[in-house]
Amino acid sequence: MKPLLSLVVPCFNEEETIPIFYREICSVEPKLDARIEFCFVDDGSRDRTLNILKELRKTDPRVHYISFSRNFGKEAALLAGLEMAGGDFVATMDVDLQDPPSLLPEMLSYVTDPEDPYDCVATKRSTRAGEPPIRSFFSRRFYQLINRMSDTEIMDGARDYRLMCRKMVDAIIADKEYNRFSKGIFSWVGFRTKWLSYENVERSAGQTKWSFFKLFGYAVDGILAYSTLPLTLASYAGIVLCLIALIFLVIIVVRALLFGDPVAGWPSLASIVIFIGGMELLSQGIIGLYISKIYLETKKRQNYIIKEQE
Ligand code: UDP
Ligand code: MG
Repeated sequence: MKPLLSLVVPCFNEEETIPIFYREICSVEPKLDARIEFCFVDDGSRDRTLNILKELRKTDPRVHYISFSRNFGKEAALLAGLEMAGGDFVATMDVDLQDPPSLLPEMLSYVTDPEDPYDCVATKRSTRAGEPPIRSFFSRRFYQLINRMSDTEIMDGARDYRLMCRKMVDAIIADKEYNRFSKGIFSWVGFRTKWLSYENVERSAGQTKWSFFKLFGYAVDGILAYSTLPLTLASYAGIVLCLIALIFLVIIVVRALLFGDPVAGWPSLASIVIFIGGMELLSQGIIGLYISKIYLETKKRQNYIIKEQE
């Protein structure tokens, strides 16, 4: 029998794009050497997303869906989708056709190759065309930074469009982190990965759910989850400042002994106090960020709550 391929598709307010996505997959399906099932995850949408999924389910038994009790974010939706997927192979993809379904047959051929199968096929964009330049700029800096700071390699331009073998999916869902950063987890679990790149595609309809600030927060989460370098840097800065302070102290004492003690230099003193105060707050802030992550992790909260499922 042909292997089963599960398509994990997170959806948040995607009433416009789901029907287009479904049609596109159906047109690609004959070229696929696999049976398919759909694993839609409605991430607490406030539009007709859930109704559309229910209608699809009525006409096509290969359609399965989970609906969250509220918006839990794409990371939670991906996890829920991976957990519900029963396929021998699982592909995660966006519903807005920015992850072209036409690539699926090629991706599947790499993991089902009888001679030399890959465990995973990942995709990245070859260009960032069509993206606001400021967003591209910050994205690039983020990837440079995180790759310098972390041992886990995170590919610039990598999308969450992937096709994975069962073993890899099991490894990913066994990772019970609360603060999930998929781009990191995919890389961290290892496995042999084939990279494909393709031109950036515009969204088929609807609007992006990511504002600049949401992306910025996502970037910070990624760094906190995969690097402890900021903590080390905070301590180094502390050591350097202590040394400088010590040197100044010696100079001041020696100067006072040799030349008496003219009261001068208040502005510079104020600057130094403010500077050190700032450094202190910054370091405490960094430590605070990590503690907040530990705090959330120790609560062992659920990653998502299912309201409905079929
Ligand atoms: N998404 C989600 N929950 C969210 C935000 C987004 O499930 O809180 C889904 C969304 O429906 C889409 C995918 O994640 O299928 C990517 O979102 P989007 O296209 O808005 O992001 P972009 O492609 O602009 O980065
Ligand atoms: Mg998109």
